[in-house]
Amino acid sequence: MSSKRRQRRNQCAGKSRHESKENADYAAYLMRRDKRAWLHAYKCRFCRHWHVGHTAGQRMRERVRRLLSLSLDGAKSGGVKD
Ligand SMILES: [Zn+2]
Repeated sequence: MSSKRRQRRNQCAGKSRHESKENADYAAYLMRRDKRAWLHAYKCRFCRHWHVGHTAGQRMRERVRRLLSLSLDGAKSGGVKD
């Protein structure tokens, strides 16, 4: 469970690398269109090329959305009594 850093380096080896931001952006655009996933081009600090992957910001947004839906459920069950 505590091997996230190692996984990140492995991801680097397994992913396609792009020489420029333009290439990576275009690849991200195509993947977004195909998979309808929120993918983003980012510069890798290990190999100094560009990869396409999920953004940390999107993960945060999904977490917020989940929290929001949970609070909505809570509002329903503990809702207004007549
Ligand atoms: Zn890399």
